[in-house]
Amino acid sequence: MAEAVDLQEQEVPYQETRLYRIRHSLAHIMAQAVRDIYPKVKFAIGPPVENGFYYDFDLGVDDDGNPMRFSDDDLEQIEKRMQEIIKGKFDFELREVTPDEARELFKDQPYKLELIERFLTPDEFGMYLDPNGNEIDHPPQLTTYRQDSFEDLCRGPHVANTKEIKTNAFKLLSVAGAYWRGDENNPQLQRIYGTGWEDKKQLKDYLTQLEEARKRDHRKLGKELDIFTFDEEVGPGLPLWLPNGAIMIEELEGLAKEMEENAGYHRVRTPHLSKEDLFLRSGHLPYYEESMYPPMELEGVRYFVKPMNCPMHHKIFGSRPRSYRELPIRLAEYGTCYRYEKSGELFGLMRVRSLQMNDAHIYCSIEQFEQEFINVVNMYLAYFRILDIEKYVMRLSTHHPRGLGKKYINNPELWQQTEDLVRNVMRDNDVHFVEVADEAAFYGPKIDVQVYSAIGREFTLATNQVDFAQPGRFDLTFVNSEGEEETPLCIHRAPLSTHERLIGFLIEHYAGKFPVWLSPVQAVVIPITDEHYDYCRQITADLRAAGIRAEFDDSSDRMNKKIRNAQKRYIPYMLVVGDREMEEGAVALRMRSGDDKGALPLAEFIAMAQEVIREKRYE
Ligand SMILES: [Zn+2]
Ligand SMILES: [Zn+2]
Repeated sequence: MAEAVDLQEQEVPYQETRLYRIRHSLAHIMAQAVRDIYPKVKFAIGPPVENGFYYDFDLGVDDDGNPMRFSDDDLEQIEKRMQEIIKGKFDFELREVTPDEARELFKDQPYKLELIERFLTPDEFGMYLDPNGNEIDHPPQLTTYRQDSFEDLCRGPHVANTKEIKTNAFKLLSVAGAYWRGDENNPQLQRIYGTGWEDKKQLKDYLTQLEEARKRDHRKLGKELDIFTFDEEVGPGLPLWLPNGAIMIEELEGLAKEMEENAGYHRVRTPHLSKEDLFLRSGHLPYYEESMYPPMELEGVRYFVKPMNCPMHHKIFGSRPRSYRELPIRLAEYGTCYRYEKSGELFGLMRVRSLQMNDAHIYCSIEQFEQEFINVVNMYLAYFRILDIEKYVMRLSTHHPRGLGKKYINNPELWQQTEDLVRNVMRDNDVHFVEVADEAAFYGPKIDVQVYSAIGREFTLATNQVDFAQPGRFDLTFVNSEGEEETPLCIHRAPLSTHERLIGFLIEHYAGKFPVWLSPVQAVVIPITDEHYDYCRQITADLRAAGIRAEFDDSSDRMNKKIRNAQKRYIPYMLVVGDREMEEGAVALRMRSGDDKGALPLAEFIAMAQEVIREKRYE
């Protein structure tokens, strides 16, 4: 049973914990160690992150002009030097510095100088950023922290003395390329990631957990299980679904179709591109332009590939007069969209440039809103049960007045009204949620659902958005029971997210051992010797006719090898056939867990498998 994470239980903010101070201090100690080994290194930034810390370094370029990199040996050496520094029992000393002192102190550190100037320069509203990224109305007091001979521009907090850190409770994990301020036009930096804990045991537990996550990594498993691939010539962020992936997609779409049909949705289909005019009207231009592909010009008219399906669905609603009797109208489509993500931000199936979304738009009156909204939330929960998702958090993202007219449509009263509406519906119906300011969609508040995989990794999956702006922009109306024209509200919802993100999540969640209904191959038929081939062929055909995705392994491998191969592919059922099975019209059933169920009549197996598939059971 899916269960909301109880947010009351969440303790002190991370920034105020001892672990945060330990990790922040380790970042500084690592920077010192790198400087001690590479005196010419330039420092970018080095914050604590979830489970650890990193620091970005610029090592300069080699003779060929390529950025110099750290090797695994370097990491070992840096770790050793860090241990020496920790054993030196140095205090972390805080010092307030004037802008000029800071400029002098970091005169050989171009990235630090850039940061200093950024802190001292107001934005167009006269606001400054403090080193924690918060907006303040005056230039921040610059501070540094020093341990031993290393002084860094920093706001803290740190441990009081390096002796508070255990030399056996941290580890440097990896090096990755990173761009200064995340912009690929900037020089490439070398980011060293480390993890740090209070003691050796915590570190060991974390490393074990990391190993489990690595085994489940969807990029690795997705390849091993032939689910998807990327191709250089097709382009980054544009996944190609292999036959196994296509089967999973069809199963998920089948599930969505069934759920949506039962909930009174209608399916529609819309083109992948449209004239600029449509996106000007929707407001995607200019509010969303940064995430869109540049336009193409055809016969003197500018066209864009769609980043979202909404405008097209609005056009379908508006394609003829509507009466209150028809409302709510729920239009659904697994629509393919294209979004421009920077290459540095692409990540497996989780961040891609082409995506197929479990999209739908619900047009309803204000009076119908509460019921429709709760129905959507309940649909999420029904999906979570089917997909064995046991933990989730709903986040209500609201607007911030500062973004009105830029990030958000400029209508303060409507923002207030819709946000209150959503908040009250959630409260009245006991839906657990947290509220986050300044993360809304440009046309209204949204609810993101974060789900946790079986090993506790967090993914933002579904979204649910309330839109008070677009129906008006599209002149959408219906005739209400008084005979007057009224503008409907629109709910945008995507409980199954995109195929890309959902399948990426499911691979990690199930570690590749999908429930039978989602498994690309559900059963494999394995003969003991050549004499059983004909019977195997026959039962494979019977299984397929019964709607079970079955495969006959007629390779030249020996039986044990065939079983091992099937286990590696996490095929749920292995049906082994020898003389006895052939005579009795039976199969010997082995589960992917290794569990041996013995022989049973083929018809009995078929009935059992059909039931597990129909009920979407996970065992
Ligand atoms: Zn710092
Ligand atoms: Zn939408």
